[in-house]
Amino acid sequence: MKNYTKKFWDILNLIEDYEKYGFEDTHSEVSFSEGTADSKDEMLKSVREKVKACRLCGLSGLRTNSVPGEGAVNPLVMVIGEGPGAEEDKTGRPFVGRAGRYLDKWLDAVGLSREKNCFIGNIVKCRPPNNRDPKPEESFTCFPYLEKQIEILKPEVILTVGRIASQIMTGRSIGIGALRGKLYHYKDIPLVTTYHPSGVLRNPSLRPRVWDDLKLLKTVINNG
Ligand code: SF4
Repeated sequence: MKNYTKKFWDILNLIEDYEKYGFEDTHSEVSFSEGTADSKDEMLKSVREKVKACRLCGLSGLRTNSVPGEGAVNPLVMVIGEGPGAEEDKTGRPFVGRAGRYLDKWLDAVGLSREKNCFIGNIVKCRPPNNRDPKPEESFTCFPYLEKQIEILKPEVILTVGRIASQIMTGRSIGIGALRGKLYHYKDIPLVTTYHPSGVLRNPSLRPRVWDDLKLLKTVINNG
């Protein structure tokens, strides 16, 4: 456990380095050249193609498909989970299994949808085997793709679902039960955290807390 905590803080420190030094930092092998892409569609397509071809961490050898993320190009909300599951790996699309359909219901309850006004992504773009947590080094290696997507999409609000995504995006190493219910910022973007839909499917007693988090999300959108 001690070793895991140390690794976790290592990754957070390295993410801070990204913020200070940008994408060309020597810690990372992912780079984005100054291209000629002049539309969000083209820039997102460029990230998608890099993700599809990416072999920078060990998850590449285990995937059927990488899952770059998808949704509205000018999103009100960017939803961020930890990584693809079995269905997502099969289809190359984010949150399409049972948990994804449940997430769609959450979004619908507050007037959101992945087709109209949300973009759905993950911390790592390839499936960790047996749905284990992404390792800190995998999250760190993959993070520049997500950071670039956020920079292109400029969502009005970020919603993280689950412990891993919430810890990484808030830079706090506490459990999701203690993290949720407050407003954070990622760079200047308001950020709300909640449980992962698969956790709530396993434990329906969490539903009232998710509803509170969705109401917080809605308030932030309305005040934006
Ligand atoms: S998880 Fe991310 S860094 Fe690892 S191979 Fe897939 S796209 Fe590349």
